[in-house]
This record gives sequence, structure tokens and C-alpha cells, in this order.
Amino acid sequence: MQSGAAPDVVVVGGGITGTATAAFLAGAGARVVLVEREGLASGASGANSGVVQHPFDPVLAALYRETVALYRDLAAVSNAFAIGHRPAGLLYVSTSEAAARRQAALIDGSFPELGAEVVGGDALRRLEPAAGEDLWACRVDIGYPVMPGASAYAYATLAEARGAVIRSGRAATLETRGDAVVGVRVAGQLIPAGAVVAAAGPWTPALLDPSGRWAPIAARWGVVVEAELAEPPRHVLEEAGIEAVLDAGGADGGLDPAVGPDFDEVEFSLVPLPGASAVGSTFLPFEPRPDAWMERILVRAALFVPSVADAPIRGVRACARPQSADGRPLIGIVPGTRNLFVCSGHGPWGISTGPASARLVADLVLGRAPSIPAELDPARFGAL
Ligand SMILES: Cc1cc2nc3c(=O)[nH]c(=O)nc-3n(C[C@H](O)[C@H](O)[C@H](O)COP(=O)(O)OP(=O)(O)OC[C@H]3O[C@@H](n4cnc5c(N)ncnc54)[C@H](O)[C@@H]3O)c2cc1C
Repeated sequence: MQSGAAPDVVVVGGGITGTATAAFLAGAGARVVLVEREGLASGASGANSGVVQHPFDPVLAALYRETVALYRDLAAVSNAFAIGHRPAGLLYVSTSEAAARRQAALIDGSFPELGAEVVGGDALRRLEPAAGEDLWACRVDIGYPVMPGASAYAYATLAEARGAVIRSGRAATLETRGDAVVGVRVAGQLIPAGAVVAAAGPWTPALLDPSGRWAPIAARWGVVVEAELAEPPRHVLEEAGIEAVLDAGGADGGLDPAVGPDFDEVEFSLVPLPGASAVGSTFLPFEPRPDAWMERILVRAALFVPSVADAPIRGVRACARPQSADGRPLIGIVPGTRNLFVCSGHGPWGISTGPASARLVADLVLGRAPSIPAELDPARFGAL
């Protein structure tokens, strides 16, 4: 960016969606400033479980596929980010054969190309020696483990290399004239801009409407334990039936914990990562004290991967999913405003679908008229 020149676009939020948006905009020649109130990837984008995974939603599947392709491009130019050539494979595990079969039928019904298969007992232990005895699993050929945070850092580096300016440590507020957004204010200083992209994760509604009336995205907090397994699983593992919880923002549950699933429950997941495996997790509507959940997470995990019980624990962390009211992200112009765009609400799928969402919103800002599915239009939640 030329010094002294006003940016064309300010991106608010230094997670995966904000950093990727900044990289794509700057790559197209836009003058970009990214504002992050804490540090880059200080939200869920730096503390997630670390798997790029098919979201089993026909609307989001295309975003996932494009994201895998974008990650391959990113890995080719980044020392910080790597993604495997082949998926590790995902095992939906259960103590019940019927639950594993239900999971396979569910996936097969909508995505037969993923080749969901059911394995149990000894066959399962040959396939996945880390699995406990007498378990059943539905195996799907998906799931790329990636280091949490690496994608956001790599996109931020790429954005800077392309001329974007990153300002971290202070929050941004919107600066408006009538229904038009004319820039942001950071520490009292106005940064004028032709367009603003809100990519502030669960805090996006607070940025867009400080009155709190427009709130289609809420925080769903997850706790992740870092366990150093002597022999980590070959696969990514999740508890069969977890998709009901992942969909909790959807039509059945909305954002109301009272009508969603039981938020007190721990839903097992394990992603083998270099150094330590990420063992999770929770879906809490309040910010938890991570250590208070550690024991419950480990006990649940040991049901499926017994070696978790003896593994040295390297740490435990919590972060918030930006959960939208219908489980799908908001990508596009903020209804009732001018020059204001949003890319947020990815819930449990932001690492798996964030970069493709960022490409869409960047193209929209650049006036390239991308084809954004109507299901992702922020207008579905009404005007600001
Ligand atoms: C426990 C857990 C495990 C997960 N595992 C996976 C996984 O394996 N695979 C997957 O695909 N997804 C996973 N997710 C979901 C994924 O992490 C999120 O969807 C994704 O990181 C959201 O990215 P984001 O950029 O939209 O938001 P965030 O990462 O929350 O980034 C938003 C940023 O905006 C900043 N900000 C907020 N307000 C302001 C402001 N006013 N001014 C400036 N900056 C501001 C925040 O500080 C933050 O850094 C997981 C989530 C959790 C909680």
C-alpha cells in the first residue's frame, strides 16, 4: 500500500476468514488494511481442532472443495502451512453397531461419492490400532489434519507480501454516514475506506450492531486438550452422532440453548497433529474455564482411544465457534447498508470452508459478481 493513501478496503478480524479475505483482495491489487483487536489467529482460528473436513451440507460442500484447492495453492507459497496429499480418513466411532450404521446411511444418502463404510471389532483395530476394543466405526475418506493457526498466519503473511497492512492490538468500530460505511475507527483514529469487510467471528454482530438487536451469530465455546500420545491414531476420530450437535445452530435448535442438544455433554473428537493430538470437545453457550472441562473430555476420549488415559497433557484451551442461527455462514453485503460486507458465521467449519468464503466476499467487494448461493445471503436474517 502506498504510504499515506487511504485503503480501498478495511478488513476487521485476523482469523482465517479475515486474513484470507485480505490476501485475496491485496492479490487483486486492492489497498487493504486488516485490523485485529488482539493478535492474529487469537480466536478459534488459532485454537481449533485442526481438521479440514467435509461439512456434509450440500450448500457448504462446494466451499469445502474450493478451500482444499486454495490450501494447496497456499501450501505451495508458504513455509508455515502444509496439507496432506490424501485425507487421513475419518472414523465416526461408537460402542453401538447400529449408531455406526446410522451414520454411514446418513452420509451415503447425501454423499455416496464419499464411500462411507462400516467396520467393527478386530477389523477396526487392524485399520486403526489406537481404537479401543469392541467398537464400531463408520469410515469416510475425508479429513486433512492441519496445524491450528497455520492457515491464518500463512494468509496474513501472503496478504502482507501483497502489500496489505496489518494492525493488531486495538479493536475497530464502524464509522458510518447514514446507511453508508465510510471506514473504521481504531484507537480514536479514523481509517477511511471505500469498503469494510466484517470478519470478526462470534463478535461480528457486536461490530455491526452494537445495540445487540441484529444478532444472527453467537459464540459456541469449545475446549480442546493437547495430549501427547505415544502412538497417535492414523485417522481423525469423532463420535458417531456428532453431526446432530454440529447442526445445533440449524432449524432444530437455532441459537437457543434451551431447544438445542444437551450442551453439558462432551462430544469426543481427536485430530492427530504433529507434537500433540487435539482432543475435544464441548459446544457451550458460555465461555468455560478450560481446566474445568479437561477431565471430562479425557474420560470420554479414553472410551474410544484408551491410550489417551496415560498420555502426557501439554495444555488445554478454549475458543468460540461463530455459530449462525441456521448453521451456515453469512457471505455478502450487509442488508440495509452500503459499502459494508460480512464474511462470518462458519460455526464448526471455518477452517474447512473459510478460504472459499473469503474468495467469494473478496470478489464481491471487487465488483466481480461472484455466484454466492442464496442460502448464504446475510439478508436472510433481515436488515441491520
Ligand atoms: C474447539 C473448536 C474446534 C474447531 N475445530 C475445527 C476444525 O477442526 N475444522 C474446522 O473447519 N473448523 C473448526 N472450528 C471452527 C473454526 O475454528 C471457526 O469456524 C473459524 O476459526 C472462525 O474463523 P473466523 O475468522 O470467522 O473467526 P475468528 O477466528 O474468531 O476470528 C475473528 C477475529 O476477529 C477479531 N475481532 C473481533 N472483534 C473485533 C473488532 N471489533 N476489531 C478488530 N478485531 C476484532 C477477534 O479478536 C478474532 O481474532 C473449531 C472451533 C472450535 C471452537
